[in-house]
Amino acid sequence: MKTNMKSITIISLMAASLLVVSSCQKDEMNDDNVQYASVLNVSDEGTTSIIDANLKLAFIETSEIIDSELISLLKMKEEEKLARDVYSVLSQKWGSAIFSNISAAENNHLNAIVLLLATYSAADTTIGEPGVFANDEVQTLYDELVSNGSLSVEDAYRTGALIEEMDIYDLSEALNTTTNENVIIVFENLLKGSRNHLRAFNRQLTTLGLVYTPVYINQTDYDLIVNSSMEKGKQYRMNGQSKGKGQGKGRKGQGNSGNGTCNN
Ligand code: MN
Ligand code: MN
Repeated sequence: MKTNMKSITIISLMAASLLVVSSCQKDEMNDDNVQYASVLNVSDEGTTSIIDANLKLAFIETSEIIDSELISLLKMKEEEKLARDVYSVLSQKWGSAIFSNISAAENNHLNAIVLLLATYSAADTTIGEPGVFANDEVQTLYDELVSNGSLSVEDAYRTGALIEEMDIYDLSEALNTTTNENVIIVFENLLKGSRNHLRAFNRQLTTLGLVYTPVYINQTDYDLIVNSSMEKGKQYRMNGQSKGKGQGKGRKGQGNSGNGTCNN
């Protein structure tokens, strides 16, 4: 049952992201004052970064985040740092551009979470030293991932795929338990980034004639992701960019909730 639900969630998130372009264009034509933009930058190889300036404009005013949302944000903050730090070591070890490019993207993902946390004053926005984690379990995982990824370049690509499918699993879980619109914007885009990075690592493995077996997500979801194209960002309403009436940033009930999003 759990696996089926997860499968449905991942598939529906992907389907939603495919539907947005046409509805956005329609919205834009109906109101010249409202600007929409992606918060994602996706390279041909799939390296996916958040455009900070657009993310800030996509944020709306919400009530404070609740404890469970704070916990999942801090967990994902550590997970983005874990990815960044593992890829940084593997980049030095193997010199393959995919690791340096994706490590830089993970640093950008980490900063996107920090930006969101900073929006809500209650949160820890500090970032620990590279390769050092406050949580013992994360530290152990980091050590294992670096050790496994250092065996061969093939193992390094497998380690990349493992990190990305773990992120996909954890971000999907986190999305199931939050209603905060800004947290959802950040997690949805980090999730797209992780699917693109998974496609990128799978492509490397496929080129070497290797088949990867997923651990965190099921085979159906894995196949669905790696057999589909790189995902570009959905279009978000850029709050505070409009000269129209009452579109100011941070107005409650405006912007990206409800009809403010492009895929509604
Ligand atoms: Mn990431
Ligand atoms: Mn990633």
